[in-house]
Amino acid sequence: MRVYLDYNATTPVDSAVLEAMLPYLRDNFGNAGSVHTPGQRARAGVDAARESVAALIGAKPSEIVFTSGGTEADNLAVFGVVAASPGPRKHVITTSIEHHAVLHSCEEFTRRGIEVTVVPVSQRRGSEGVVDPEEIRRALRPETVLISVMHANNELGTVQPIEEIGRIASEAGVRFHCDAVQSAGKIPVDVRALGPDLLSISAHKFCGPKGVGALFVRSGTALEPRFYGGHAERDRRPGTENVPGIVGFGKAAELARKLLAEDSARIRELRDRLESALLERIPGAQVNGDRARRVPNTTNTTFANAGGEALLIALDLQGIACSTGAACSSGSTEPSHVLLAAGLTHDDARSSLRFSLGRATTREEVERAIEVVPEVVERIRSLSPRAPVAAQWAAVPIR
Ligand code: PLP
Repeated sequence: MRVYLDYNATTPVDSAVLEAMLPYLRDNFGNAGSVHTPGQRARAGVDAARESVAALIGAKPSEIVFTSGGTEADNLAVFGVVAASPGPRKHVITTSIEHHAVLHSCEEFTRRGIEVTVVPVSQRRGSEGVVDPEEIRRALRPETVLISVMHANNELGTVQPIEEIGRIASEAGVRFHCDAVQSAGKIPVDVRALGPDLLSISAHKFCGPKGVGALFVRSGTALEPRFYGGHAERDRRPGTENVPGIVGFGKAAELARKLLAEDSARIRELRDRLESALLERIPGAQVNGDRARRVPNTTNTTFANAGGEALLIALDLQGIACSTGAACSSGSTEPSHVLLAAGLTHDDARSSLRFSLGRATTREEVERAIEVVPEVVERIRSLSPRAPVAAQWAAVPIR
């Protein structure tokens, strides 16, 4: 039995999404920029998908720019806003737990002489991994042109106070970008309620295809394109549209909107069952991230004194797929920047696993994980040269 618990890395394409895409890979193969009938059929598919994606996040269809995914949406947002803002001095505010699509973009800003403030998140046990909006306010300067804060964190699942940050940004007249790649399809995302000027989403995180995403750009927001070419996406993102991908994205958005309440209640129940059983059965196991402010599908747990990479491999051999952190940093031996930012020690960060559930996760899969994970942790710990974990925990004060 294979158990897939890595939905934050990517999700299986829903069969209804695949069905919606197939005609656009076969008969309706036209270029959406062509005036003839095949082109107009493709255009109609793109237009319908734009409406569906806009509806998922409460935007107008004209505010949706299709991209090749979340990474490109994040890059278009942050580079596009900074390039479009006037003034010789520019300053950007972000947080220590952003995805590398934003953090590495900010490193590039620094290399180009643009100053960046990376605001820390709470390290207080129980509320770790959440940014304090007042810290964002304190970081503001007269030359600040952009604030970029994610909605849900991909590793901890923690949900950031986007509405408050949106209010601070708008009072200060600063553009606000929100990376909602891990929240869209899991919790309600409404751009009017949350208040960002720009917001990124990605289809493959909610049962759509890989390689397609969108940037919401509020009407009137100045944005320099990243690419130059034809006139697709109203000059904001030229290039022949990925019609089957965009159509699949539209279907995935429609399903996410329809199933959100039902999916999230069921998934939360399974996540909580998995989490509480692991805490009960594994001595010293600790959940990371503010448990009251999380997306319903994610649990990140430290199994002290059991290396995450070893756990990951041993679990995979038992048919269980999970993650030691962001998928894009797996293979690297560096501990997760998110877990370190949330206050974990290097050792604990290296001994942590993320389990993320989704629409196709079943109770049987969760029960199988509950059976296998404690055994594997015990085995890996028994191979560790350190003291038995129970003895260590007796000596360690609760952080
Ligand atoms: N932002 C966040 C928070 C993510 O979790 C991811 C993917 O893991 C991305 C951006 C990048 O999205 P994509 O894989 O579509 O490029």
